[in-house]
Amino acid sequence: MFVTSTGEIHLDDLVERLRALLGPQGLIEREAELERYNVSIEGMFRGRARYVARPSSTAEVAAVVNACQAARIPIVPQGGNTGLAGGAQPIDPRSVIVSMERLRALRAIDPDNDTITVDAGMTLAEVQSHAASVDRLFPLSLASEGSCQIGGNLSTNAGGTQVLRYGNIRALTLGLEAVLPDGTVWNGLRGLRKDSAGYDLKHLFIGAEGTLGIITAATLRVFPRPRDIATALVAVSTPGDALKLLHRTRQRLGDSLSAFELMRRECMKWVLVALPDERSPFTEECPWYVLIETSGHDEPGMLRSAIEEILSEATETGLVTDGVIATSEAQRRRLWALREGQADAQKAGGAGIKHDISVPLSRVTDFIERADSALVRAIPGIRPFAFGHLGDGNIHYNPMPPVGVTPDAFAERRNEVNRIVHDIVADLGGSISAEHGVGQLRRSELTYYKSPVELHAFKTLKKAFDPHNLMNPGKIVT
Ligand code: FAD
Repeated sequence: MFVTSTGEIHLDDLVERLRALLGPQGLIEREAELERYNVSIEGMFRGRARYVARPSSTAEVAAVVNACQAARIPIVPQGGNTGLAGGAQPIDPRSVIVSMERLRALRAIDPDNDTITVDAGMTLAEVQSHAASVDRLFPLSLASEGSCQIGGNLSTNAGGTQVLRYGNIRALTLGLEAVLPDGTVWNGLRGLRKDSAGYDLKHLFIGAEGTLGIITAATLRVFPRPRDIATALVAVSTPGDALKLLHRTRQRLGDSLSAFELMRRECMKWVLVALPDERSPFTEECPWYVLIETSGHDEPGMLRSAIEEILSEATETGLVTDGVIATSEAQRRRLWALREGQADAQKAGGAGIKHDISVPLSRVTDFIERADSALVRAIPGIRPFAFGHLGDGNIHYNPMPPVGVTPDAFAERRNEVNRIVHDIVADLGGSISAEHGVGQLRRSELTYYKSPVELHAFKTLKKAFDPHNLMNPGKIVT
């Protein structure tokens, strides 16, 4: 093995070491196979890594990290590669991608403690189904749940459609195990609701996008499975009306309100193009739609009656202009398909410039009005496309190019559009990344919008954990 005067090992030697450590299943080197790890799900980010390590245990993850550290080779952790910010794509072509896809064991389920402990590479859908096998609910729910992994969810602090009631994944996590950048393993898999013994390290890794270490396992909260669910899709005239409806519904249903999802007319139009088997339940197009879901533990059918009552009152006062309540599980799924199909709808409608913003609930209407009119002034004919988790103040605000403008020409205006949208967000006290993370996509904007004090603290933390800047370098902070 060739070792330089600084003790570094060359890449070729590192690869030999990884082959020996991980065996034939454990290292991907063939170019054709590398593609799916190097390219992000939407094709926006492309890395040029020549090696993907696939460890199958925490000890193997630690060995890979140790070997890469010794060689001073950057490490890019990767989960299901469904992230939308380019966090899992390497910037430096010498990087080794560490895929967690072989770490997918169920470590423990403790129904009496309402916890489940899983390897980080388990998909979100698998975690949900293990919880269901003991009559529990793991409430994190994303359209990508069949492919995204719990380690990726943790590293992006994922949100999804049930945050209103259960919180994002940070609120669902009791303990973590992680391999630190120096190769040591921290076992913090505690199933405790209360623990004030010093700094709470798990929170550092949640939302860190693999820049402080590799999460290898997690202990997560599970909940009693609801016995009664009611789901409705309603039409409203403005986001302001949608907000009034949110407050009224919460007032009546309290915490049983679990989802309150907003969609603009254009989103419905394009989802029907993208999913030709689906139908709009309404005869006429409406400016805005809201998908409402409530779930509880009373007799089945109670929530449906409650929702019916709320919606008929709201219709009488003109707050709701049309609406439908699912009468079967199949209908419920069809209503959700219209919401979950928004990523496909966006593709069908053309290349939008995406924003994943959050503002205080009381400012959502201001945000949409101000952003719409500022963008139309800057780019006449720009087509609005907005949907999202209204109950969390989180809007996916993704305007599409004016008719006749090519995606490439529109993409050239990306920085200008981002600045217009994010200046409004900053003015309203919001965040430029609500649930997708920073990755490469928002790094320069993060530097622009965060205060020097916060940025200094970020960099100090990064340096303390990863002094050689080898753990997912170039993501979040540089
Ligand atoms: P990856 O994309 O593989 O990685 C994401 C980041 O985490 C990268 O920085 C990576 O380096 C890091 N990472 C991954 N695993 C680990 C680990 N074990 N340890 C340390 N770092 C790690 N997101 C939402 O929040 N809400 C939504 O509603 C939502 N809907 C989506 C719908 C669609 C159709 C798609 C395609 C995406 C959606 N997303 C949503 C985004 C995405 O699914 C989430 O960000 C998800 O949490 C990413 O998980 P992943 O396993 O795919 O992570």
